[in-house]
Amino acid sequence: MMHQLYPQVAHHYRYELNKDMHIAAAHFIPHKAAGSCANVHGHTYIVNVTIAGDELDESGFLVNFQTVKKLVHGKLDHTLLNDHNDWFDRHDPNRFPTTEVVARTIYETIQRYLDTLPHKPKCLQVFVRETPTSYVVYRPKAGER
Ligand SMILES: [Zn+2]
Repeated sequence: MMHQLYPQVAHHYRYELNKDMHIAAAHFIPHKAAGSCANVHGHTYIVNVTIAGDELDESGFLVNFQTVKKLVHGKLDHTLLNDHNDWFDRHDPNRFPTTEVVARTIYETIQRYLDTLPHKPKCLQVFVRETPTSYVVYRPKAGER
């Protein structure tokens, strides 16, 4: 596992958890502006998810690392991202599996799960590296967290 430093989010929560994941997946961007990215091709995505909160659950977790992995890695690893119709859409540019949309959709999926927990942790940041030279950071706007 590669260790790397990620951009930090300023916050006032007591606990901050970060989960790293490597996801091997294929995708294509169905738009003429995408150039060669319109062809199916693969990446090893490096994903880092930042979750924070003030309280732990009854087992002493802010959130279980394995649950976070299952929600993201368990769904996307060794798949064609475009096949996940509940996450991505080949007709809606706001839901093409670009790095930006992948990061936002991971955020939405994790936050939807966190909202079901009584101690209400928050996802503060999702970092998605698509290539050694390209990455995206998604953070909810201040009013959304
Ligand atoms: Zn790509």
